[in-house]
Amino acid sequence: MDVTDEIKARLDIVDLVSDYVPLKKAGRNYKALCPFHTEKTPSFVVFPESGTWRCFGACNEGGDIFSFVMKAEGWDFGEALRVLAERAGVTLEQRGPSEQTEQYDRLRELLAEATTYYHHLLLNAPVAGPARAYVRRRGLTGDTARAFMLGYAPDSWDAARTHLQAQGYSEQDLIDAGLLIDREDGRRYDRFRNRLMIPIRDSRGRTVGSARARSTPTTTRSTSTRRRARSSTRAACSTASTWRAGPSASARPPSSSRATWT
Ligand SMILES: [Zn+2]
Repeated sequence: MDVTDEIKARLDIVDLVSDYVPLKKAGRNYKALCPFHTEKTPSFVVFPESGTWRCFGACNEGGDIFSFVMKAEGWDFGEALRVLAERAGVTLEQRGPSEQTEQYDRLRELLAEATTYYHHLLLNAPVAGPARAYVRRRGLTGDTARAFMLGYAPDSWDAARTHLQAQGYSEQDLIDAGLLIDREDGRRYDRFRNRLMIPIRDSRGRTVGSARARSTPTTTRSTSTRRRARSSTRAACSTASTWRAGPSASARPPSSSRATWT
C-alpha cells in the first residue's frame, strides 16, 4: 500500500467533504449542492464505498480526497498530500527534491539567467541605445535600472535562444519558461524582441516572470516591423543582432560599451 492509499484508507471522505459542504444521505451515497459551481439542485455526490466524489452538473468531474481538496483549496498535489497525511496521522518520508521541484528550480535559474542577460544588454549593448534613451526619458536613472534589473530584449529572433542554449538550457526549457515561441509549423523564435524587460520577482527575490514594454523610438519600431515582414523565413532571424549576443559577448561586453550607462 503506498502512502496515498494509506491516507485514503484512514480518512473518511464523507467526514472530509462535510468540512466544506453539508452532505445529505441518499441511499448508499451522499448528495450536496456542488461546492465548485452554483446550483439549486444537488448534483454533487460522494461515494463512501469507493472513497470518491463526482459532480454530475456543470463541473462534470470527480476524483478522490486528494483531487477534492486540491480543487477546494487550490493546492497542488504536494500540499494536499502534506495536509491529508497530517490529518490521517501518516508520516511522510523525507525525500529528495521531487522531479517537479527540480524542474521549477531549473526554470527559475533560467529566468534569472535571462534576466541577467537582458539587463546586461540594456546597460552595455550599443544596440540598446534607443532603449536606454527611452528609459532615461521616462526619468529613470542607471541606478534604478540596476536596482530593478531592467533589461532589453534585442530586436532579434534568436539572440536570447543562442545565448541561453550556450548556457546549457534546451529549447524545451526555453519554451517551458515562456522565452521561446513554439509554432505549430515548427518555427521557434525568441518571444521577446525589441522590448524593455521588467523582471517580476517573488517574495524571495526570485525572478518568476517579466513585464515588458515596447521600446518606443519610432526608428527602432519601424525597423522592427520591416524585419518582421522580412523574417518569414528563419534565415532572417539573426540579422537584427548587430551586437551578436553570444555567450562570450555577454560575459565580456566590448569595453567601449561597458560604461554606456553610469
Ligand atoms: Zn459542480
